[in-house]
Amino acid sequence: MKVYLETYGCTLNQADSDIMGGILKHAGFRLVKEASEADVVVLNTCTVKGRTENRIISRIEALRKQGKRIVVAGCLSINEKRVRIACPEAVLVHPGAVSFIAEAVRRAAEGKGGEFKEKAAKEGLPRLFTKPILRVPIQEGCVGNCYFCQTRLARPYLMSYSVKWLRSWVEEGVKRGAKEIQLTGMDSGAYGLDLGTNLVALLDEVRKIKGDFRVRLGMINPGHAKKMLPKMMDIFEDKKFYKFFHLPVQTGSEKVRGDMNRAHSVADFKKVVKAIRKKFPDASISTDIIVGYPTEKEEDFEKTLKLVKEIKPDIVNVSKFASRRGTVASKLREIPTEEVKRRSTELAELVRRIGAEKNGRFEGKRMEVLITERGKKGLGNGELDGGNPKGFCQLSRAIFPAGKRRPFSLLRKSGSDMETVNWKGRADNYKQVCVSGKAKMGDRVKVKITGSNFGSLFGKRI
Ligand code: SF4
Repeated sequence: MKVYLETYGCTLNQADSDIMGGILKHAGFRLVKEASEADVVVLNTCTVKGRTENRIISRIEALRKQGKRIVVAGCLSINEKRVRIACPEAVLVHPGAVSFIAEAVRRAAEGKGGEFKEKAAKEGLPRLFTKPILRVPIQEGCVGNCYFCQTRLARPYLMSYSVKWLRSWVEEGVKRGAKEIQLTGMDSGAYGLDLGTNLVALLDEVRKIKGDFRVRLGMINPGHAKKMLPKMMDIFEDKKFYKFFHLPVQTGSEKVRGDMNRAHSVADFKKVVKAIRKKFPDASISTDIIVGYPTEKEEDFEKTLKLVKEIKPDIVNVSKFASRRGTVASKLREIPTEEVKRRSTELAELVRRIGAEKNGRFEGKRMEVLITERGKKGLGNGELDGGNPKGFCQLSRAIFPAGKRRPFSLLRKSGSDMETVNWKGRADNYKQVCVSGKAKMGDRVKVKITGSNFGSLFGKRI
């Protein structure tokens, strides 16, 4: 039987797809690359944003019209009512029940419907080993209770994989050619709290694994990071670890942070960033910010802007508040959409200015880059797309109506050369580098940085 696996959402969800893919192959199913070829389509879904949920529901409806048998896995499976309206005979597999995916596919093929909710261990399950990037889920669930978060409802149990099992997965992955290990979870900081161990113990074990590979640590809440700082900083001295830290702060206002019921203060976030930068001045700091939380006043938003100007994060994932079913915040009166949009545009503009300024510092420098992705033909410095850097279009269109000349000097400092960007890779601080020159997947190459924009560095292999 042919199965097509389509994945939405975070790295943890992609890692769950690697496990489901491994189980299905082990059970004799054939994984195909197109939904059109498949007998059964497995959608591994995400529910963080309303827009994503709507997109997935439309996808389910479209596939059903094509006569496809459908399994809905991942976080949207908790919104059974909406899924059943779109496809009454779909088979639902909750995030904790991925070990039942083969049975779910068989039921879907027979048009029997059904739902798999049981939480079952994921350790010991077959998985797909990908390279050069290997996603390794270390835990799911968390110990937080943020009032805007629906993910917590979809993955309600804190479940960590054992250090021994994770070590065997990384070793196997490196043996099979993985060069970048992405340790991922809902909150890596909560790792091991259910097993009487912790993240530092795991990282220390990974550090001992032989081989030429790099490790990217996934999202960790500032509250947990604060407690582990000294030991974690020592471990990160090892070249194996990308100097990249993803620390969601969500707001710059302590009042709104309290209203969100976040388990850390804005001051904690600042303290952690300061300690990281003291040890690793070139480290990349990534954070998440929600704009327009129902209790956010103008002065609170100003505090968020002030925090971003002060901390100058390398990456800020800006989200507009979206009310999610079943959360405490869904009962709060929302701020008018136009106002949320205005705040989000203002913050996004600031984030890009800071990103461009920070990346500009690397121009002229030589960096070592791990090649992890193919680049695009004929796109050079600033990844020009019709004269605009990619990804900036939405914002520039919002600010500069069509046909109006758009000033891009703030993003592109060096002269553009239209050399082919053959490859993309990551520097030691996980900055994305678009590389022109000869290389191959998994190579570690020396690059001279010739240009930059808010999201990427551009360079020539030397
Ligand atoms: S820490 Fe908060 S935002 Fe993160 S998964 Fe848990 S409840 Fe959701």
